[in-house]
Amino acid sequence: LAAEWERFTASTAASGAHNEQASKSLPLGVTSSFQHWDPYPISIASARGAWLTDVDGRRLLDLSMGFGAMLVGHLNPVVIEEVQKALTDVGTLFVTPSPTATEVAERFQRRFGLDMLRFTNSGTESLMYAVRAARAFTGRKAIIKIEGGYHGGYDALQVSVKPGLDEIGPADAPTPQVPFDVEAGTVYVVPYNDLDRLTAILDAYGSEIAAMVLEPVLENIAIVVPDEGYLAGVRAACDAHGVVLIFDEVKTGLTAGYAGASQRLGIKPDLVTLAKSIGGGFPLAAFGGRKEVMEVVVDGRMAHFGTYNGNPLVMAAAKAVDEICTHEALDAAEKINIGTLDAVDEIIAEFKLPAHTVALGVKGCITWSPTPVRNYRDYKATDFQVAELSWLWGVNRGILTPPGLDEQWLVSLAHTQAEMDVLVSDFRALAEALR
Ligand code: PLP
Repeated sequence: LAAEWERFTASTAASGAHNEQASKSLPLGVTSSFQHWDPYPISIASARGAWLTDVDGRRLLDLSMGFGAMLVGHLNPVVIEEVQKALTDVGTLFVTPSPTATEVAERFQRRFGLDMLRFTNSGTESLMYAVRAARAFTGRKAIIKIEGGYHGGYDALQVSVKPGLDEIGPADAPTPQVPFDVEAGTVYVVPYNDLDRLTAILDAYGSEIAAMVLEPVLENIAIVVPDEGYLAGVRAACDAHGVVLIFDEVKTGLTAGYAGASQRLGIKPDLVTLAKSIGGGFPLAAFGGRKEVMEVVVDGRMAHFGTYNGNPLVMAAAKAVDEICTHEALDAAEKINIGTLDAVDEIIAEFKLPAHTVALGVKGCITWSPTPVRNYRDYKATDFQVAELSWLWGVNRGILTPPGLDEQWLVSLAHTQAEMDVLVSDFRALAEALR
């Protein structure tokens, strides 16, 4: 690991210098804390298709793809054409209703099966408003979230985000205690894939709980899939207590399938939050779902604001993304992803590595534990040292998977089989080095 870090610093001098300069104006030298890693992150000068060029002039195969936001590839020509049309013929901001926003809303209604929706500019905002809508709808304040889950920067959801194991108490504690009070609402934290714990919380506190918020497939701790029947059980438990079920599909979304993870897994939430992949690299997010819940915005129980919401520039990009992301296009990328995972699985078996792969749609990951990860505690028991080495190994050889070890690779519509073969051969070389 130390040798790989030496190799990293030797080949990224310009990134190091850039971070030093940037740190004088930007805390940590970055514009979001997720962009930082020690000793410094790689600074990117430009991107096209599936490739990045860093400030040292190195070309990197991008498998991070903007945490999944770049599903259609960097500088996708269709997106650029639509956005350029908006720039030359339409305008960038009206703060009045406009037909382009309605057109995109109707497209999303059809694609995701939403009765009504509103646009926002980030996942964080969408989560904040979805929780607010659930509170307005139910007249209750408390919420339930998943242990270790990340849902953006909204205070109410900044509870139990990747906590240390010493902070979350023993696994057999009857109720994870997270007395976090925001807007006078308690946040109850439950482990993923644990219906018993959820039922216990709902039986005890159901009448004060407005919403349950979860990623249908956990993607902020690699990829953790639901047990058979788990999401159906969550749906039924929320219904039994009049709790609004919010699926955070900021990360899953189009990368999980044509209409997101909800449709792929066959469980419909009351509200869904969308961001990243729907915007083609532009700051677009949305929240929406059941008419009865969204009508809190109509009857005045809640207001939803935002100067930049549904602006024509971003709407142009969203329309292009909706057109590009056909079943055929997504299926083709998924096929490449599955082939890649199969090849990685073969190497894991051949070298008897203590690892396994997980896939969802066009995303995949290698998790460094021999057994499946079902929740945050399992995830914390994975081998982070090898995970770090595996990530750094790729970076040093021109492959950028997401930093942070918690993420997954994305096969965008711009990636080819040949490019994914590079990931496979790089992984074989790592397996040989680990022998
Ligand atoms: N929800 C999930 C599951 C996320 O992964 C993220 C961001 O990574 C967010 C919400 C917040 O989205 P944004 O960064 O657009 O505010």
